[in-house]
Amino acid sequence: MRLLQRLQTGAAPLPVRPVALAKLTGDRATFAKGQPVGWSPDLARVLDLPRRDLAASYGDADFATLEASLRAPPGTSCTCRTLGKRCPSSLLPIQRLALMEAARTGGGLFPIGVGHGKTLVDLLLPLVMPGCKVAVLLLPSNLRAQLVDVDWHFYGGHWRLPNLAGGRWFRPGLPVLHVITYEKFSTQEGTDLLTRMRPDLIVCDEAHKLKDRKSARTGRFLRYLEQHPDTRLVAQSGTLATRTVKDYAHLAAFALRDGSPLPLNRHVVEEWAAALDPGHAVAPPGELLRLVDPSHSLDPLEGGNEAERERRRVRDAYRRWRNATPGVVATDESAVGMPLVIRTRDPGKVPAELLAHIQTALAGQRPDGEEFVDELQRVACARQLASGFFHRWRYPAIQGVPQDAELITRWFSRRQEFNRELRERLKRPAEHLDSPGLLVRAAIRAHQSPPYDGELPTWRAASWPAWGDIHKRVVHVTEAVWLSDFIVKDAAKWALRKGQPGIVWVEFPELGERIAKAAGVPFYGGGPEASATIIRESGKRSIVASLRAHGTGKNLTMFSRMLFVNPPADGAAWEQAIGRCHRQGQLADEVEVELYQHTAELTGAFEKARDFARFIEETEGTPQKLNLASYNAASWP
Ligand SMILES: [Zn+2]
Repeated sequence: MRLLQRLQTGAAPLPVRPVALAKLTGDRATFAKGQPVGWSPDLARVLDLPRRDLAASYGDADFATLEASLRAPPGTSCTCRTLGKRCPSSLLPIQRLALMEAARTGGGLFPIGVGHGKTLVDLLLPLVMPGCKVAVLLLPSNLRAQLVDVDWHFYGGHWRLPNLAGGRWFRPGLPVLHVITYEKFSTQEGTDLLTRMRPDLIVCDEAHKLKDRKSARTGRFLRYLEQHPDTRLVAQSGTLATRTVKDYAHLAAFALRDGSPLPLNRHVVEEWAAALDPGHAVAPPGELLRLVDPSHSLDPLEGGNEAERERRRVRDAYRRWRNATPGVVATDESAVGMPLVIRTRDPGKVPAELLAHIQTALAGQRPDGEEFVDELQRVACARQLASGFFHRWRYPAIQGVPQDAELITRWFSRRQEFNRELRERLKRPAEHLDSPGLLVRAAIRAHQSPPYDGELPTWRAASWPAWGDIHKRVVHVTEAVWLSDFIVKDAAKWALRKGQPGIVWVEFPELGERIAKAAGVPFYGGGPEASATIIRESGKRSIVASLRAHGTGKNLTMFSRMLFVNPPADGAAWEQAIGRCHRQGQLADEVEVELYQHTAELTGAFEKARDFARFIEETEGTPQKLNLASYNAASWP
C-alpha cells in the first residue's frame, strides 16, 4: 500500500520496505482518549532514526564550495542601491544549512522562523537539489508580487537563480522554476497543474497552508505526491504547527519518508497529538517519554505541577528529537533581538446597547432576530459587535419588485439541507470531488438528463434536486449594519497620532474601509493590486490593512507600530503579523503593538493566542513574539 493510504488508514498497511511492514502492521487502529501514549511500531521507527548534530555536520569549506557554486557571475548588476540595502556577501547560516541538508537528504522539513531568509532558500533549492530540472514553488498569492517583482531582482543581482517559468530569459542547463499560488491549487484548474508539469522538486513556502488534511487543497496535493512518489518535497514555515502536531505530520511523511520524526500512521499521530498539543484534556506522555534525553534537564526553578512539568519535558524532548533528525533544519534563536512591547488600547466607554447585543448574540440570536445555527456564527457576530456592527443577509428587491418571503424561507431551508449533505460528503474527498464547487458540478452531472456519460465522477446528492430547482431564484447580499462608530473613531484617532504612523490591522473589510475613510488614509484589502502597492508605502502615513490579505510574508518594516482592532485567537497569526515589522531591516528602537480588549471575546481570543504561542515555542523551539514581548498592562501576567 502506498504512502498516502498508509497515512489515511490505520489498518494493516503494506510496506515501502519489508522492515517497515513488521513495524507498521502492529499499530492500533484506535486509542482511548486520555490514555497515556502507548508503544507502537511507529514510535519504534522514530526511536531508531539516526541522530545528527547539525552544527557539526558541515564545515567552512563546505559552505565556501556551496556559495561559490551559487554566486552570480562577476559583473552582474544589482538593485541594492535603489532599494537602500547593503550588498549581501554571503548566505545566512541557516540558509546554508537548509540548502546543504536538502541536497544531502533529498527533501527537507524546515521549521524556520519568520524573518530568517526563507525566500532565498526557495529560489536556490532547485540549483542544489541533485538532478533537478523542473521545480515548483508553492506560496500564498499575496506573496507572489513581492517574490516576482522585488525579491527576484534583488537576489538575482547576487546569486544564480533558476529559470523563472514564463520569464524573459532562459539559460540552458539551469532548472525551471514554476511559481504557483496555493489559491490556484484550490481550483479545478489546479487539479491537473502538477500532473502537466511533473516537477522533480516541490518547495512549499508557508507550508502551513497545507496543514488541513481535510481541505480540498491539501487532499489534492497529497494525492499527487502519492501518485508520483519520486517527487522530492521541501516544506518550510515559521509556523509549521499552530495548534497541533497533526498540522504537519503528513508533510513530514512526504518530505522525509521513512525518515520522518513524526508517526506515519494517522492514528499514532492522533495519539501523540493528545499528549503534545495544547488544551486542557490532554493525555499523559506514556511511552513518548522514551524521547527524553536524561542529560537535558529542564530548569528546576520552572513552575507548575508535576503533570505540567512532565508535559513541558516531553514537548522539549520531542522538539530536540525532531530537530536532530536528518533533513530537519530549525531555527533556535529569535530573528530579532529588538524589544517588542504589547499593550491594550482603551477605546473609551463601550456603548451599553452593544454589550446587550453581544449577550443576545452569544445566546444564539442576532440583533435583527435571526437565529444562529452554530457556535462559529455566534462568536463571529460577537466579534463584529465589539467593533460596532454586525453582518446580515439582505434579499434586495429585483427591478423594484420585492422577493417573495415564502420563497425565501423555502430557499433558506433547502440550502441548509444541501449544505449539511455537502459537509458530510467533503469528509471523503476524491479527485474532482474535493471542493463545494466540484461537488455541485458532480451533483448536476448525476441528475442531468439525458444521463451524463463522460469520464468525470458523479455525486447522487439526495438534497440536490430540491435545492438545484430553487437555488438561483433568490438573490441575497451580505451587508454590515452599523450600531456604533466608537471603534472606528478611536482607531482613526490612533492612526492619526502625530509623527507616529502605523498599521491598523482589521479582520473585516467593511470595518477597514470605514476606519480608513475616517482617518483619510488608504485601506489595503485583498487582491493582487493591493499586494503590489502596500509594499511601496513609505511609512510616513498610517495605513489600514486586512490581516488575512497582508498579515503574512510581506516586509513592512517601514512601520514599527500596529493596532489590532480584531485580535485573532490564533498564535501563528500573531507571530506572522507582528513579524511584518518586527524583523531584520527594522530601523526603529522597538516595535509597539496595541490591541483592543474591551469585551470577553476579545480577551478570550488573546488568551488563546498566548496559549498557542507557548505550545509552538515548546514543541517547535522557534521563540514566539507573543512570548518574548513585554506586556504593558496591569491585567497581564
Ligand atoms: Zn547588491
